[in-house]
Amino acid sequence: MTRLVLLIDPIPEDRAATDAVLSASLTFVAENEPILTAFDAAAARGDGVFETLGANDGRARGIEAHLARLTGSAHKLDLPAPNHDQWRAAIAALLDALPSVGQASIRLTITRGTGQGGPTCWATATPITGDFPERENGVKVVTLSRGYANDVGEASPWLLVGAKTLSYAINMAALREAQRRGADDAVFTSTDGFALEAPTSTLLLRQGNTIVTPVIQHGILAGTTQADLFAHLEGDGFECVYRKVEIAELQRSDALWLVSSVRLAVPVTEVDGTEIPTDRGLTRQLNAALLA
Ligand code: PLP
Repeated sequence: MTRLVLLIDPIPEDRAATDAVLSASLTFVAENEPILTAFDAAAARGDGVFETLGANDGRARGIEAHLARLTGSAHKLDLPAPNHDQWRAAIAALLDALPSVGQASIRLTITRGTGQGGPTCWATATPITGDFPERENGVKVVTLSRGYANDVGEASPWLLVGAKTLSYAINMAALREAQRRGADDAVFTSTDGFALEAPTSTLLLRQGNTIVTPVIQHGILAGTTQADLFAHLEGDGFECVYRKVEIAELQRSDALWLVSSVRLAVPVTEVDGTEIPTDRGLTRQLNAALLA
């Protein structure tokens, strides 16, 4: 099964569009067909925003939460607000074209365009073949400083830390640094001693019957998977809390996970070379709930 690419001719956010207009604004193109000019802000500067959704058996998880976050990211970058009906139609078209069974990732992208005209928009779908062994086996992480304090989101909003921008070179560099240090993934920390998030996932800690995630006002992305899991865990009698998390708490937790839309809940087995307990039962339950 090849990957799918859907070009989107953006419709202004406040324009109500009929189904015919929505479908005329979406065009499938071949996977290897060029869709950007060399002058597009995405290619030149990584200037744009994106979302990645997980899909399973023809359904995408958290569509509304992802569209809300896409709108928030676009707002932070002064990009035009996306038309949600149009992006819903794009996701539906991709789901229709995917195999009806199996997992896939769906990616939505908006760039600032070429400077002549509006934003450039497209969506892709990638079927996932094989498993995610790390959901069972876990990952080792190292902590890496982000080089700024925990209040950076409020102090320096132009750093766009809570937006999901296309500029992921730093996040990818952190993953390579983690690998150089013998780990699988990284946890970003602030210069004033707090754990923030991983380069492509949110942190979740279990301390007894309490599940903790770092508070989002301090310059991290608001995770859609974490929000889903909080709803599930609260229903199961856990107390779920947003607060600042000290770095030292990671190694003292009863279980620690990296959670994200496609890889889902991945248990952490080691932090900076120190083994930490894992909770296999709860990990399986969380992933089953996300895939249900
Ligand atoms: N934090 C960062 C920096 C991310 O890139 C991601 C997802 O890609 C997440 C957290 C997790 O977000 P979600 O659960 O919505 O996938």
